[in-house]
Amino acid sequence: MERVFPNGRKLRILTGDITKIAVDAIVNAANSALAGGGGVDGAIHRAGGPSIMRELDRIREAQGGCPTGSAVVTSAGVLPAKYVFHAVGPRYRDGKHGEADMLASCYETCLKLAAKLDVETISFPAISTGIYGYPAEEAARIAAGVVSKHLDSGEGSVREVILVLFDQSSYKLYERLLE
Ligand code: ADP
Repeated sequence: MERVFPNGRKLRILTGDITKIAVDAIVNAANSALAGGGGVDGAIHRAGGPSIMRELDRIREAQGGCPTGSAVVTSAGVLPAKYVFHAVGPRYRDGKHGEADMLASCYETCLKLAAKLDVETISFPAISTGIYGYPAEEAARIAAGVVSKHLDSGEGSVREVILVLFDQSSYKLYERLLE
């Protein structure tokens, strides 16, 4: 489904594999060591090829890793995109350790990077909701809230955001939130 804002900008939700959907920027759910991992991170590196990790190696040498709530940019290797934004979501503990702010910051940072790089279409996975254990519904509220606010504001270059949900139950959750 999609939600169209009065300014014509769109928020779309889809189920599927984020590596298969052509956009200007694909957001990855990375870890602060930028070391590669399982889940969507593994899928992005497998599908995008080794050049992405080589770029991350250079970033790691230059600045160490990436703090939680922030993101770094690489090219997208052979993925159907120009960039991958490697966002570092919070590991969920009990919700009392700033997790919500850090998760919101991931989405906000990526939208800011998008504006800086003139990105018009960007896809996000459900950051932190896999291995990092963030409760799906709370995470969906944060993601939908930050993205809707940004699109509605008309600021920046992004005219379409695609939230790519890996399974039908996450999709249903977002669908309810956006209706
Ligand atoms: P995190 O460590 O931030 O929790 P994960 O990769 O474990 O990251 O999970 C984040 C979300 O991405 C989960 O909802 C998971 O189901 C989903 N996911 C896993 N593989 C893909 C993929 N290829 N495309 C889109 N989403 C994916």
